[in-house]
Amino acid sequence: MPAAGAHWPLPLGQVAWSPLMDRHDLIIGVIDAAHDDAYEYRLPYGEQVSYPVIQSYGAHLSHRGVEQYTVDFGMPVSTPVHAAREGVVALAEDSHDAGCAREECGRLANFVVVLHSDGTTGEYFHLLRGSVQVRIGERVARGALLAFSGNTGYTTVPHLHFGVYRTENGGRTQSLQVSFATREGLIREPREGARYLNLSANGN
Ligand SMILES: [Zn+2]
Repeated sequence: MPAAGAHWPLPLGQVAWSPLMDRHDLIIGVIDAAHDDAYEYRLPYGEQVSYPVIQSYGAHLSHRGVEQYTVDFGMPVSTPVHAAREGVVALAEDSHDAGCAREECGRLANFVVVLHSDGTTGEYFHLLRGSVQVRIGERVARGALLAFSGNTGYTTVPHLHFGVYRTENGGRTQSLQVSFATREGLIREPREGARYLNLSANGN
């Protein structure tokens, strides 16, 4: 990792990344990190736009177990994906160009992993090939453009999978319940079928 500010926790695993690997082959962040539950996340897309929640917490298809507290936003391929929280880019992959509705396609997902100051990660999956706009080690602001959405990996329709994860002892990543600041107020559990708007820069 390039020096990105000594106060940021660094990835525990220093294994070289290869596109043949799975995201979960690497340990990133702080083991059993204490998530800052007071943090109000931004929705992981732009202002003045909204996208339907197609799977939320505990959805039957794939949001169970380690993915319990993740959200899928249905969005057309090439939609701008923005950071829900500031941090340092710990890992990024955008060389893949395929997806399918089977779990074994999971390793074909393009993604960005942002390491947060509390040692958790914000992870953005199924991105468009060649679309990542940030580099590993780069510090990104809340709301920064990270990439463009796609349909790569374990997926049936174009969407963005977003989750905040904590690495547990043993290396498993467990998603965490987080709150989103929206124009409807603070959302603790996104509703399937709902569309939420980000607060604009002036707070309205
Ligand atoms: Zn998902």
